[in-house]
Amino acid sequence: MTSLTREDLKTEQPISWCPGCGNFGILRALQTALVDLKIPREKYLVVTGIGCHGKLFNYININGFHGIHGRVLPFATGAKLANHDLIVLGFAGDGDQYDEGLGHFPHAARRNIDVKLFTHDNKVYGLTTGQTSPTSPQGYKSKTSPGGAIPTPINPLMLALASNASFVARGFVGDVTHMKELMKAAIQHKGFALVDILQVCITFNRAQTYQFYRDRVYKLEEENHDATDLQQALKRSRETGDRIPIGIFYQEERPVYRARLPQIKTQPLIKQPIKPTKLKQLLREFT
Ligand code: SF4
Repeated sequence: MTSLTREDLKTEQPISWCPGCGNFGILRALQTALVDLKIPREKYLVVTGIGCHGKLFNYININGFHGIHGRVLPFATGAKLANHDLIVLGFAGDGDQYDEGLGHFPHAARRNIDVKLFTHDNKVYGLTTGQTSPTSPQGYKSKTSPGGAIPTPINPLMLALASNASFVARGFVGDVTHMKELMKAAIQHKGFALVDILQVCITFNRAQTYQFYRDRVYKLEEENHDATDLQQALKRSRETGDRIPIGIFYQEERPVYRARLPQIKTQPLIKQPIKPTKLKQLLREFT
């Protein structure tokens, strides 16, 4: 198969997301990005975590792995290092990635593991019915913070930039075409790519709505942002009030992790011969 249609990418699974959920926009952007890129679907692997976002695994007809909470990046990293011909697309929630999975995030970024991470950042735990998440704004009221969230939220873009991520972007589910272009750019980038997506949870987050973001988002590319300038990127990443930037904050080319790892530098594990003698020795050691 050399090209894909959106129909090819659909599955027969009934979609159980709440009507109007921002996840529909992410699924649509992903489908159209893959159609545009014209890469055989066998080349892709989708890895999802736990949360409403994780159901995306059931709704896109390409190879996938639905893992455990917070572990999208370890699974994606392992798959990529074992078979670096794969294009590995990780999908995680804000609680999934920036809470349970936070420790994996800066290390994947600084190592420049060649995986793409798309976070459904709706600033609430949706699947478990609306608890405060690590990206919920200060003062955010939920069943776990009825008096308002006390800590300041994690800023995923600042964290990614401070961890030397080589591609850092933000999308918004209310602009699917723009998000699709960000996904394509992330997929085509050689190295670790983060696209933090402002995803709307219409059921449990009544503060960060579609209208809330429509009143605030602006596109970096329309304001002469220089995505090769780290200082500019850091400055833009701190804008969180009445103006919220979307687009590519930062991008640089630098060697991916595997290119510096002698054992897999020239070919992935999947293409390396297994030497039976060594395997026997190894088995003897463990029996
Ligand atoms: Fe979407 Fe929120 Fe419903 Fe989950 S609970 S499907 S995130 S609207």
